[in-house]
Amino acid sequence: MTINDYKFAGKKAIVRVDFNVPLNENGQITDDTRIRGALPTLKHILEEGGALIIMSHMGKPKGKVVAKYSLKQIVDAVSAALGAPVQFAEDCAKAAEQAAALKAGEVLLLENLRYYPEEEGKPVGIDKEDPAYEEAKKAMKASQKEFAKTLASYADCYVNDAFGTAHRKHASTAVIADYFDADNKMLGYLMEKEVQAVDNILSNIKRPFTAIMGGSKVSTKIGIIENLMDKVDNLILCGGMTYTFAKANGGEIGNSICENDKLELALDIIAQAKAKGVNLVLATDCVAADDFSNDANTQICPSNAIPEGWEGVDAGPESRKAFAAAIEGAKTILWNGPAGVFEFDNFAAGSKAIAEAIAKATDEGAYSLIGGGDSVACVNKFGMADRVSYISTGGGALLEAIEGKVLPGVAAIKG
Ligand code: AMP
Repeated sequence: MTINDYKFAGKKAIVRVDFNVPLNENGQITDDTRIRGALPTLKHILEEGGALIIMSHMGKPKGKVVAKYSLKQIVDAVSAALGAPVQFAEDCAKAAEQAAALKAGEVLLLENLRYYPEEEGKPVGIDKEDPAYEEAKKAMKASQKEFAKTLASYADCYVNDAFGTAHRKHASTAVIADYFDADNKMLGYLMEKEVQAVDNILSNIKRPFTAIMGGSKVSTKIGIIENLMDKVDNLILCGGMTYTFAKANGGEIGNSICENDKLELALDIIAQAKAKGVNLVLATDCVAADDFSNDANTQICPSNAIPEGWEGVDAGPESRKAFAAAIEGAKTILWNGPAGVFEFDNFAAGSKAIAEAIAKATDEGAYSLIGGGDSVACVNKFGMADRVSYISTGGGALLEAIEGKVLPGVAAIKG
């Protein structure tokens, strides 16, 4: 079923959203992006004459009631965003009466799902090495099903709009879907957009396709790099992983960040790119610093000839040009991970050059997807958020999707 086709009139919809918003010490929301992200779905259901039961997690209370993670703190903000009063259920597993009393156009927000260990479905208070662990896990899986069944019992249909947790097989993100038939479960608008964005990158590709992978380590990106190797025309590998490649090729990298156990892997990636005809772009020069601070002394040097006591912290001018050239003219662009320590203004030029080149290519008709917390922070820092095609809201979920993994939250609905 799709959200546009479903007839919500007179129906109760239970909607999994990601309202895991950051709060300050006074319990005030410091960034409401996630609430705004879910509004199109929530407003649509209300406008169509449905009643809403909204559920989410907040923080990591680890299966216990922890006041600082109470969703009660965001009731007023959700109400203001929806333009409707919001009732609150203090216990998400004991909300049957409140749910039953809901009328069309009314809204009920459930307390933090993760106050119950059943939400994540992992046994608590028992070590993985403990011989009783497997039994405890089995018991927890059974009670997870019961918990999901209880949540499902509140509503006529289930909508999943929480892309940020779509890579988790939790009670509210996946297991609950078993208690609705295919005609009564669907993705929300945010999820639909995210799934479409991944599809544009993995299946519906317009060429040339340039992927830019940065960040600190090659080890955390290897699954994605390998999956993309069969799809991209240009692959820019930048950021901290530059120096693992430089060292693998026999370079001197001073104090630069390096994964010494991944040197073989780096050589293998270079060989794979060659064999597959992928234009692999690595940073040939860098900004080297004598300290990991914004005020450090800097010099430009080749990425494979960094003096002792110095470390590569950003892409150099020659590399920035090479990155821009590989992005220019691209029709599909994926960016994950910065090209340097962009949090320090003096080491942000490489990431800025990438952001600018992506914005320009997008102006010229490319589809650009930016995902993963740090690259999103980059485009925001450089004020280019509205000059790219799509900024993903899901960190881990997006990365797993790009690796080619099936997301349980999506599979539970689409099969
Ligand atoms: P990741 O979480 O792996 O995507 O890495 C993001 C982090 O990588 C950011 O906080 C950057 O500051 C950091 N980073 C990027 N380039 C470098 C570098 N050359 N040396 C150390 N850290 C870096």
